[in-house]
Amino acid sequence: MDNYIDRLRRYRKLRPEEYRALLVCDNPETVRELHEAAREQTLSVFGNRIYIRGLIEFSNICRNDCLYCGIRRSNRRIGRYTLSRDEILECCRKGYAAGFRTFVLQGGELPDQSDMLIEDICSAIHSEFPDCAITLSVGERREESYRRFFEAGATRYLLRHETRNPDHYASLHPASMSLEHRLHCLEVLKDIGYQTGTGIMTGSPYQTYDNIVEDILFIGDFRPEMIGLGPFIPHKDTPFRKYRTGRIDNLPADIIGLTLKLISIFRLMLPEALIPATTALATAGSNGRESGILAGANVVMPNLSPPGVRGSYSLYDNKASTGEESAEGLPDLEASLGRIGYEIAVDRGDHPSWRR
Ligand code: SAH
Repeated sequence: MDNYIDRLRRYRKLRPEEYRALLVCDNPETVRELHEAAREQTLSVFGNRIYIRGLIEFSNICRNDCLYCGIRRSNRRIGRYTLSRDEILECCRKGYAAGFRTFVLQGGELPDQSDMLIEDICSAIHSEFPDCAITLSVGERREESYRRFFEAGATRYLLRHETRNPDHYASLHPASMSLEHRLHCLEVLKDIGYQTGTGIMTGSPYQTYDNIVEDILFIGDFRPEMIGLGPFIPHKDTPFRKYRTGRIDNLPADIIGLTLKLISIFRLMLPEALIPATTALATAGSNGRESGILAGANVVMPNLSPPGVRGSYSLYDNKASTGEESAEGLPDLEASLGRIGYEIAVDRGDHPSWRR
């Protein structure tokens, strides 16, 4: 197994069955070596600097009905909201003053008519904060819209593929959605020139180790600039409310441990990738954020949304949006990172290959 870690570090690639062996390996010594190799890799590319991204959850309106997600269309138990352009700009001002130089606008899959609003918001942010990067995460949209957002100043886009296996995809989504279309969107985003992020939930319902190997191979081929990974956490108002969590291949599994292993594997495969220690990881695991960083992550995304709407952006139960997961908690986050030997980076933190 040490040999696998060494080969992954050197050649950035393993055979499918070797990835699988790493995923199921429960030897603490091997796991420690995997994280250590990944951490060294991160340090050699990025130093001990962690990028911060201000996450603005600007709308929870969604036309999709993903079975795992709390803001799915069929959930009638949450109040729907969309922040106005001014409210969003106000979040950015607050964020800018706190030191953020990247704003991530995330939302449900709004109707197509909202594309003008999204474009307008990107233009407004870009003109008021020309030194900041704008990241969008608003799902599958028309190619024309992706282009317009890019022209308006958005340069990064997060769209997790969720799973590379079509049957698994179909078990997580309604028949109206297809993996093929999601993958098509990712290709379009990349062609337009976005720094593109993709990723998966670990421990999502019906997931198998073989599925995760397919995800690893896909990410190795697609080479996204950003990779988002977080544990699946049930939401009480979704069809998966009673799903037995903590299982892969229908057997008990350490989902947090698996998320951390994947962070390390992706770091070794794609040394320059921007990999966040996600809110889901921080919500599900004690010290999830710090463990993520020590496993090779180099980004955190504190919540910059107005506190009044945070509760309505409930992708899963008990989602953290205060303390160190919030912009207000930045000094605490800085102190926590300091305790494990890291500091907050104040620049935009583009992917090293990015030229615009
Ligand atoms: N609508 C946009 C972005 C919002 S959802 C989109 O589809 O891309 C952002 C991410 O949250 C999703 O990609 C999914 O991987 C994650 N997510 C949704 N529900 C979740 C849950 N119950 N547990 C953990 N992560 C979840």
